[in-house]
Amino acid sequence: MSRPLRLGILGGAFDPVHVGHLFIASAVAAELGLDRVLFQPVGDPAHRTPVASSADRRAMVLLAIRSDDRFVLDETALRQRGPVYTADTMPLLRKAYPDASFLFIAGADSLIDTPWRRLDEVAAELDHFVVVERAGADARRLEPTLAALPSDLARRFMIVNLPLVDVSASAIRARVAAHQPIRYLVPDPVADYIARAHLYEKP
Ligand code: ATP
Repeated sequence: MSRPLRLGILGGAFDPVHVGHLFIASAVAAELGLDRVLFQPVGDPAHRTPVASSADRRAMVLLAIRSDDRFVLDETALRQRGPVYTADTMPLLRKAYPDASFLFIAGADSLIDTPWRRLDEVAAELDHFVVVERAGADARRLEPTLAALPSDLARRFMIVNLPLVDVSASAIRARVAAHQPIRYLVPDPVADYIARAHLYEKP
């Protein structure tokens, strides 16, 4: 019998996708032996209004991941009616992959800066919730969030130490608006897409 698929899930606005996302997906996949990483753009995120449309963000993700067989676009959170919470996305994903084991991947900032609704339900669907540190977001600041969870769920959280890649989508948007180059912060086809579609030009 074949073993269940080990799937990483990287959810985000991807406004736009950048090398920070690609690096953590690749490094966590290698570190934890993942078969695939699902890039899961969120159409209507609960805590923000994206600048680019869902269609543009989806298109940029496809361009960014096309040269890596481990990476797959997952459209569950694009199809969901917003505001989207991961706790509602997970059961939909479970239907699509009934036998897989799931590992959610997130930067520490995303858990520190915004309280997640029903984080216990998210953790209950996962083998592990993988947290990677991010410049300015020390994973030790997660302790109060984890302390509020039942201990069997808190134990599913793990920190994977990786070199910090200090790139953010907001910094990329600001650079585009300031007419500064973003080449090498995003894959070339994504930079070309942003230029052709005139994304992020207004500050
Ligand atoms: P913004 O600057 O607009 O807030 P972002 O760069 O954080 O965007 P998101 O699409 O919101 O990008 O991020 C999706 C996930 O990837 C989040 O869990 C976030 O913490 C993580 N992430 C994004 N960039 C990095 C990075 N450079 N290093 C580690 N994790 C990252």
